[in-house]
Amino acid sequence: MKKKWMLVLMTGIMLTAAACGNNGGGNTNSGSGGNENGSDAGSASQVGVAIYKFDDTFMTGVRNAMSDAAEGKAKLDIVDSQNAQPTQNEKVDLFISKKYDSMIINPVDRTAAGVIIDKAKGADTPVVFLNREPIAEDMNKWDKVYYVGAKAEESGTISGQLIVDYWKANPAADKNGDGKLQYVMLTGEPGHQDAELRTKFSVQAIQDAGIEVDALAEDTAMWDRVKGQEKMQTFLASHGDKIEAVLANNDDMALGAIEALKAAGYFKGDKFIPVVGVDATAPAIQALQDGTMLGTVLNDAKNQGAASVAIATALSKGETPTKENTGFDITDGKYVWIAYKKITKDNIADAQ
Ligand code: BGC
Ligand code: CA
Repeated sequence: MKKKWMLVLMTGIMLTAAACGNNGGGNTNSGSGGNENGSDAGSASQVGVAIYKFDDTFMTGVRNAMSDAAEGKAKLDIVDSQNAQPTQNEKVDLFISKKYDSMIINPVDRTAAGVIIDKAKGADTPVVFLNREPIAEDMNKWDKVYYVGAKAEESGTISGQLIVDYWKANPAADKNGDGKLQYVMLTGEPGHQDAELRTKFSVQAIQDAGIEVDALAEDTAMWDRVKGQEKMQTFLASHGDKIEAVLANNDDMALGAIEALKAAGYFKGDKFIPVVGVDATAPAIQALQDGTMLGTVLNDAKNQGAASVAIATALSKGETPTKENTGFDITDGKYVWIAYKKITKDNIADAQ
């Protein structure tokens, strides 16, 4: 027993000695020792990235796109805010205390952006928001604040048009023959601009095409596949075959709904129902191929990730982001809008 403790003690002393030696060496070693950026960083920009939660299919795609885009250009420290705004605020404090050159923030609660901007401004650390759009008033608080995202209205309109295309091509889609479309809607997280606007503009697009609608049910499934399945089970329990279409604010919820529909006998023989989502994730593309999902809307993770990194890198160098130094169009001096695209089984290649 005694011997063991001696060993631990000695190892401790040796480690301490080694650490001291390193510090001493650092001073003569091109001054890289003791740099919190890590000695392998070289002169690359250090960017702190806080994602609202890692456990989100779409944001995982964006995260991977950011890492790819940063290769050789910037060093990213990507952290999980675990769907808690206080946790994210702590991460922001940490980025600032580490003196990172800029930050990319995917807010948990987009109304919390103001607090983050105050912190960033106080430390003169530029910030790029991503995917969850701060209100205009917050965006105007400082000139080193940017937003990268996509126009939510556009994705809503496109998903509505997918249903319109199907309805017009298939007279039997009006199952009860009343001339109206009976639909159910699975919405994303309340307060998220994509949830609010996709819901509104998808229905609007159907009505604009001259189709009358009946909303049988609408409920949030929080962007989540399992919740999407549960909510769809509930919708089926109360409305059954009266449902003529399923609209979901994202693919994960649409895929959950498809599971519930499969269990209720859909997608076998000629029992079909149009289901649309948004994102064009890999499992959604598979569902298009399988013929279970009617269509989706490409939410371009690749370009959203690349644009965030490009803007943050320019800001890190003290430059004002422009089309020339980022490769992306900048609107109103602070917004990068990445276009959505309609995806069906006929143009799957456009989603890759
Ligand atoms: C995506 C969702 C995702 C959400 C996260 C939306 O743009 O469509 O799939 O869960 O962003 O904020
Ligand atoms: Ca009908």
